[in-house]
Amino acid sequence: MNILIIEDEYSLADAIAETLKNEKFNFCIKTNGEDGEDEAFTENYDLILLDVMLPKKNGFEILRTLRQAKIKTPIIMLTAKSEMADKLNGLEHGADDYITKPFAMRELMARIKAVLKRTNNIENTDYLEYGDLILDLKNAKLKSNNNEIQISGKELELIEQLLMNKNQISSRESLAERIWGYESDSEYNNVEVYITFVRRKLKLIESNVNIKAIRGVGYKLEIKNLSAE
Ligand code: CA
Repeated sequence: MNILIIEDEYSLADAIAETLKNEKFNFCIKTNGEDGEDEAFTENYDLILLDVMLPKKNGFEILRTLRQAKIKTPIIMLTAKSEMADKLNGLEHGADDYITKPFAMRELMARIKAVLKRTNNIENTDYLEYGDLILDLKNAKLKSNNNEIQISGKELELIEQLLMNKNQISSRESLAERIWGYESDSEYNNVEVYITFVRRKLKLIESNVNIKAIRGVGYKLEIKNLSAE
């Protein structure tokens, strides 16, 4: 995940950046409205944190410009208490959420995750495919050419992550973070357990897709070479 921070208070921008870094998010900081808007136009970001009172161009103007230009990157407005009245204004002009300063970083992360989840869900299609495998997201089913099987919520989240990142290796850490949150090391074990569950189900439906473990790195989907078996 890549987050753009448009905020002219250096100490706050740094504190946010530090939190994002801990959560393994990438980020970019712009400290004035014009630079921030230019950066937002690159559409390289999954989410924008946008301050209201900014040098050169204020947050609401930026918001309006971006939405008029059909840039749909989710935006969370960072507003001061005195700007309460402007909040509705912001939401009306296409902000996805707002948070009032001063805020706890924990609260900010919760908002960021909620917005990312919501917006990703909207973009999601109902099916993800690879090889002969189809993940039916609405009905929580894995399907192959001739078979299908019900999967649990966590199994679905796991195979969904692997399918969405099918061209790259998913690290155990990133899977644990995406699926279980960021609380403890024990979550890493969950990944292994659920990998086993999902592998078993892939086998049961005789899919040609397998979850390959890359030692010390993570997991990646592969299409089995049937002739080699
Ligand atoms: Ca400001």
